[in-house]
Amino acid sequence: MTVRVAVTGATGRMGEEVLAAATDRDDVAVAFAVSRSAGGSVEGVAVEDAADLPTLLTDETPDVLVDFTGPASCVEYAAACAEAGVAFVSGTTGLSQGGFDSLREAAEDVPVLYASNFSRGIAALRRAVREAVPALDGYDIELTETHHNAKRDAPSGTALTLLEDIDDVRGDSPRVHGREGEAPRTESEIGVHARRAGDIAGEHEVLLAGNHESLSLTHRAGSRGVFAAGALDAAAWLSGRDAGWYDFTEVLE
Ligand code: NAD
Repeated sequence: MTVRVAVTGATGRMGEEVLAAATDRDDVAVAFAVSRSAGGSVEGVAVEDAADLPTLLTDETPDVLVDFTGPASCVEYAAACAEAGVAFVSGTTGLSQGGFDSLREAAEDVPVLYASNFSRGIAALRRAVREAVPALDGYDIELTETHHNAKRDAPSGTALTLLEDIDDVRGDSPRVHGREGEAPRTESEIGVHARRAGDIAGEHEVLLAGNHESLSLTHRAGSRGVFAAGALDAAAWLSGRDAGWYDFTEVLE
């Protein structure tokens, strides 16, 4: 069965990757694509005006909308999908707690799948971190993420997810975002470092050190294609499911 997807942020880095990935697969087809800068085409798909999204959802009846945009539009598009009865997949980061609450509200009406990272490698990194942290009790933990120079939010959504994973298995720890001047480390703190440079698609390192040894768990995305493929896997999996809140790990299982 071919799942018809609508793509938002079509002229953004991830929107373009999603459209490129969709044209390479048989299990998904693009119903339409929108951007706030409408006009022209991406991967042969005409780019419509994002302001027309509610009408397009009703007229074109896609199965799933795939969103990689910004926090405000993510919330707005989730509400439009809830209204139109269209499943919603989003990887947009930088959402506030209120933003996540709005997505969960949408999940009362339609299936919603949100992931701060759509790569399989990060899913495996998360499992490794959850195993390593309790095994290395008392070791210092530092988290470093590196992204391209146009990324807006910091630390990355993936870094925040990894910090939640660490808190889950070790209890809440104070976070120190970079250090400057007289800043000795306290026992349980986690140092969090966000680097922005060039066109790096995404790197995350969790460093555990103590007992005269260190363990570095690192993931590097070679291209944004990996996230686009994961998001389309999620869209294909989500289509036709009941309303509710779903996780990317369910897609991988
Ligand atoms: P980008 O800046 O290249 O593209 C963002 C697009 O969204 C642009 O087309 C922009 O016009 C549009 N947009 C932003 N705010 C908007 C608004 N208020 N209304 C309408 N359109 C709006 O960014 P990107 O690199 O494509 O990343 C987009 C999002 O996806 C970011 O939040 C990023 O962190 C996230 N991301 C997530 C994953 C993942 O696996 N979950 C992977 C990569 C990027």
